[in-house]
Amino acid sequence: MQRIDLIPQRFRQGAERMAQAFRDMDQVVVAAHVNPDGDAAGAVAAACHVLRSMGKEFMVYAQPGLPAYLDFFPMPGVVHTTLEHPPFKPRCAVLLDCGEPERLGRELAARLPELMTINIDHHLGGDGMGSAANWVEPTAAATAQLMAYVALAAELPLTGDLATAIALGIITDTGGFCHGNTSADVLYLTAHMVEHGCDIALLRERLENTWSRGRLTLWGQLLQRASLERRGSVCFCPVHLEDLRKCGALKEDLEGFVEQLRRLRGVHVAAVLREDSPNCCKFSLRSYGSIDVRAAAARLGGGGHRNAAGGTLRADMAVASAQLLAAIAEELDAEGVA
Ligand code: 5GP
Ligand code: MN
Repeated sequence: MQRIDLIPQRFRQGAERMAQAFRDMDQVVVAAHVNPDGDAAGAVAAACHVLRSMGKEFMVYAQPGLPAYLDFFPMPGVVHTTLEHPPFKPRCAVLLDCGEPERLGRELAARLPELMTINIDHHLGGDGMGSAANWVEPTAAATAQLMAYVALAAELPLTGDLATAIALGIITDTGGFCHGNTSADVLYLTAHMVEHGCDIALLRERLENTWSRGRLTLWGQLLQRASLERRGSVCFCPVHLEDLRKCGALKEDLEGFVEQLRRLRGVHVAAVLREDSPNCCKFSLRSYGSIDVRAAAARLGGGGHRNAAGGTLRADMAVASAQLLAAIAEELDAEGVA
């Protein structure tokens, strides 16, 4: 298959437009949403590879840095957690996988008016964040998938660390090629990278088989705590700060936990509520099929995708739990789920 054929027709114009916008930039901050996941990190790395191939100056900004489970991942450049001492005066920014300016982190969000920005994303509602160029495609499985097309439009081969970055994003956001967003386009793209040396099994191994004892203990305790609500259609688990401390686990050790709750037969919505500080809780929602947890999250000021969404509640755990379960119930009522 020709490289250009890997870009689906509907994405070609956008990919070409973004490649041109990259050429028109220099002194670039590359960033994604706070608490970056595999897609955010993969898309950021891919953008850096494109900028590097064009001879541009760039710096990676991530708040509060990359999670420890991505330690193995070759990020092209130092990850800056503040913009206070940049290696150059930033003039431009590439924003990735982030539906709202606030999710970039306060420091970068405040600097946006003075930067020329490109925005590339697959979240609904992220339109209008790029002052120089904006490309939002909710039908893309991952922002890293879109970055692959930009790289192809910039005539880069999808090999080596660039391919690893794209595969990391795709594996993360498709749940290892399992979620409903695992399109033929994603599989063609991945097949091409595998054909050219990308080792998917090794990547999965490095991502999955690195649990700490603390994480195992935490999951064991939480699996016992999870409760069924609304006659079994909702599985809910609250996680207190104390739980992490007692188990010797980190916030990021909860990555992937909410998916386990969805595995129970009859559960339509899985919900985890994590206490980050006494009056601030983060929630994660998962569903499948037509059940729209993004709508439930949006009622509480959050966002995401139809089957995977999240947000933050400024309340204590008791109040936040009630608000979260009420928003989920409203959505299930709207869908006619008993
Ligand atoms: P997770 O539950 O894994 O943190 O996030 C699931 C999905 O919801 C991701 O697509 C993520 O971008 C989105 N999401 C999580 N937290 C927030 C939030 O606070 N605001 C918005 N708009 N989206 C969020
Ligand atoms: Mn994503």
